[in-house]
Parts: sequence; structure tokens; C-alpha cells
Amino acid sequence: MSTYRDFTHRGSARATVLRTVGTRERRSHLTAPRVPTVGIDIGGTKVMAGVVDADGAILETLRAETPDKSKSPRVVEDTIVELVLDLSDRHDVHAVGIGAAGWVDADRNRVLFAPHLSWRNEPLRDRLSGRLAVPVMVDNDANTAAWGEWRFGAGRGEDHLVMITLGTGIGGAILEDGQVKRGRYGVAGEFGHMQVVPGGHRCPCGNRGCWEQYSSGNALVREAREMAAADSPVAYNIIDRVKGSIPDITGPLITELAREGDAMCVELLQDIGQWLGVGIANLAAALDPSCFVIGGGVSAADDLLIGPAREAFRRHLTGRGYRPEARIARAQLGPEAGMVGAADLARLVARRFRRAKRRRVERFERYERYVQARRTGRTAQGTQR
Ligand SMILES: [Zn+2]
Repeated sequence: MSTYRDFTHRGSARATVLRTVGTRERRSHLTAPRVPTVGIDIGGTKVMAGVVDADGAILETLRAETPDKSKSPRVVEDTIVELVLDLSDRHDVHAVGIGAAGWVDADRNRVLFAPHLSWRNEPLRDRLSGRLAVPVMVDNDANTAAWGEWRFGAGRGEDHLVMITLGTGIGGAILEDGQVKRGRYGVAGEFGHMQVVPGGHRCPCGNRGCWEQYSSGNALVREAREMAAADSPVAYNIIDRVKGSIPDITGPLITELAREGDAMCVELLQDIGQWLGVGIANLAAALDPSCFVIGGGVSAADDLLIGPAREAFRRHLTGRGYRPEARIARAQLGPEAGMVGAADLARLVARRFRRAKRRRVERFERYERYVQARRTGRTAQGTQR
């Protein structure tokens, strides 16, 4: 790997050549080379990198903390480069795919905006392909997660798929005929900010009544904390569990209590699920997919969430009774979906000729070792004489 790094450091002329090749080589997943690639998931708090083979199997995973918001994009880049070089020591890496929690432009080069990092219009792909010796692909993390689920998870075999990730907010992605639909400016799929309640809860995006204010991890926690703060009798169980410290109420705790049968927590998940179903019905009216895949942390609640979502979906679907209904499935790949998807998307830009080139470099290195050995041999002979 180090040899390759030296190669690409040589200057912009070379980088331009590689970039052109990358564009020309853009291909379908069916014809992409079956080579291992690295997938990287940049979240709000951590960077996860893994080597993934052509069948979606994870060969190795590394994690690093995302340097905090105030730090420069350069620090995050350094983290990525370190992780990739570390993995390349043990694996034959042919391309790097990055799923970033932020808006990625239509050329999939710049991160226009990332709410959890100080990235504003960062040419991430160009920066990284200048430092790594392999082609780099950058996409939105919901897009890469959707791709992962479509290739290897809950969405296999679906030609029209919509992914909804319920985390702190709502992320989304649209896949049609084996392609991610990114929109003209690259920011399609921001379903979380569709207005569902006029004049409703204020959203950090500046509007009111956004979908993610009613159906996300944040919404779930907000409601539970409100109940606890009001000292409602239905909240006594959860107040006990956090020993009266309301800020300690989290999404996973609510899910856990709901599984144990806590009535308030079951009800809260039902509410979130119903709003999920309403939003899905809206999306079905606009996009008419055959399958919705529900991912993200909140989807761990499984049927406690998806059951009510299915019911609400059926009740709100336009043309109900007279049209086929889309399947609503829970994501299967878990928190690794984004990473696996990014790695698989990277295979579309992976270089076929990489192996031949590697052989050439190895031959050169062997030759250098040979020359070195001869030189030291001669010196040794010299001293013997
Ligand atoms: Zn909003």
C-alpha cells in the first residue's frame, strides 16, 4: 500500500487520470469486479470502517471516534486515511466507499453540509483520492444503507425500494431498477422534513411539524421525558428505572421496557409507529414502491413499532382496497448496513487493472530487494577479502 501512496502523491496530473478512469469505469453491480473493498460509515460520533467482500461478508471492522464538531474536516480525513491504510496492511483493498451523514452533491464529490461535523461544501472525494491510492466513492449514509439492504438484506429482489432510517431523525433513500435516486442536486430522500402536522413541533431545520418530530428516536425520547417530567402515574415505572433522573431516559431503555410489557412504553412506540405508517402512506402515494425497509436504531423495537406502522399505513393509503400494498420490512443488516452498502457501491468504481499493477509493483520491489542483496553481498565479500 505504501508504494501506492507514493505513486498518487506525485501530483495533480496523475490524479486527473485516475479520476477520468473512475468515471469511465462506472458500471452496474452485476459487472463490477468481485474484489474486496473498504466501506466507511461516518456518523455523528464515530467512524466505522470495514473490509467487505463481493458477497457482502464483513472481513474486518475498525472503529474510531469522530473528532468533535469544532475540529477541522482535515482531522476526519486523517482518521479515514489511517483506518484505510491500517486495513490495507492485511487486505487487498481495491476501492473505498464512504457513507456520510450529510448532504452529498450530485457528483458525489462534495459533502455540502453535515449536521454533526463542521463540513461545509467539502470536496471529500477529491481530497481522499489524492491521499489514498484507490478510487473513492462518497454518498449519503441513508443511500449506502439502502443499497446494502437491497443487495444483501431485507430489500433483496425489490426493483422499487424506499428505505427509511429512524435514528435521532429520519433518513431516507429511493432505489429504482438497481439505481439510487439522488435527485438533480443530490439531496433527494430527506423524508424527515416533510410536514405532517401544520404548526406542529418545532424542528431544528427551522420548520414546524416535520415528520421526524413525530416518528424518530428523538420524538420517542421527547414524549417519554415529557410524561416523566409531568410525573404521570403511567410513567412511574420508567422514572423508577432511571432513579428519577429524567435526562437518563433513552430510546433503547424505552424499547427494553416496552419488551418487558411496560404499558406507557408500548403506547409510545405505537404512537411513533402510527406516525411512521402515515408517512409511509404519503410516500407510497408519491413513489409507489414495492417495499419499504425500516432501519435505524428505533427499528430494534421490531413489531412493537412496525405492527402499528402497518396498520396506519393500510388505513391511510390512497386507493386502499384497489391497489397492491407495498411490503413493510425491518432492515436486516443492523448498524453495519451503511458500511456494507458503501463498500459495495465502491466496487462500481473499483479498478480492474489494479491487480496487474500491483504485480508490477511487486516485481519492482523484488528487483530492488535483489539489487540491495547483491550490494550488501558485495560489501560483505569486500570485507572478507
Ligand atoms: Zn424539519
